[in-house]
Amino acid sequence: VPAGSGEFALIERHFRRLGAQRRDVSLGVGDDAALLAPPAGMQLVAALDTLVEGVHFPRSAAAASIGHRALAVNLSDLAAMGAQPAWAMLALTMPSADDAWLAEFARGFEALACAHDVALVGGDTTRGPLTVSVQVMGFVPVGAALLRSGGKPGELLCVTGTPGDAAGGLALEDARARAGDPASEYLQQRFRYPAPRCQAGVRLRGIASACIDISDGLAGDAGKLAAASGCGVRIAVEELPLSPALLATFGEDRARQLALEGGDDYELLFSIAPGRLGDAQRALSPSGIECHRIGELCESAGVHLVHGGVVTQFSAQGYDHFATG
Ligand code: ADP
Ligand code: MG
Repeated sequence: VPAGSGEFALIERHFRRLGAQRRDVSLGVGDDAALLAPPAGMQLVAALDTLVEGVHFPRSAAAASIGHRALAVNLSDLAAMGAQPAWAMLALTMPSADDAWLAEFARGFEALACAHDVALVGGDTTRGPLTVSVQVMGFVPVGAALLRSGGKPGELLCVTGTPGDAAGGLALEDARARAGDPASEYLQQRFRYPAPRCQAGVRLRGIASACIDISDGLAGDAGKLAAASGCGVRIAVEELPLSPALLATFGEDRARQLALEGGDDYELLFSIAPGRLGDAQRALSPSGIECHRIGELCESAGVHLVHGGVVTQFSAQGYDHFATG
């Protein structure tokens, strides 16, 4: 292990062997580029997401949480495609090479990478404002990927897990929550260490007609799925599955609002033919993930919220970095 603090020593020390050791990595970190061997008969699925300090995580965020989230948000995109994750690349820009920070960052990244059998195969390291870009690659049998565009009016809209928890956790972060309250701690963990639903995505192949992961808020992301499918969506607000922690901490009205509009859940939102809810629930149960029906796709474009028998239109478009209004 090199003792230096230069870029090469740093890569050697923290990123040389990170995550799973996979046979399909012919050459990983260390040369000019990685050599990878995708399996025959599969499509390569690739996604990339960037986290910027102060935009995607608070300045106070723990390094391990940043490492975890940078990979988690990307694995969530693979999950939404029904892809099995395999490889990751990491572009890390940071103001200084703080060895303790890097060790914690790598630890957070590594735990999630190992849990999903992902190998870190390369990347880039540069100086600048703290910015973390991760690219992930995975596989799906040819033609089996879950797309946003496959939904049809009359199909059911379903969601995994309990949306709103991460947004609740972030709100508590801002409010400096009371330490020691189990509900607050649960919600903060859900923001800091989101669980990408990779197994669920793989198991929903052949069951879901369309799928998206919730990063910018359930209602807005449901609108994206519906628009890609050329239809609209009705969401039954009373049917949203809310966690006991979210309800206890924020009350029903605010909990519903967090579930609809809050971001960072990284749950899967998907459509299925009417009558296949049992199939979806049975497919997910071995991975310990629940899913609930929360509405349906409809002919009329847009996002229609049904609450107490009254229908309102949801108009916010989720988080938009370049919004002008
Ligand atoms: P080059 O100048 O050829 O781009 P680099 O010094 O950027 O070489 O990278 C050397 C090796 O280290 C490459 O294999 C690259 O993929 C890997 N690498 C650099 N930074 C990282 C990182 N943050 N995480 C993982 N691998 C990295
Ligand atoms: Mg480079």
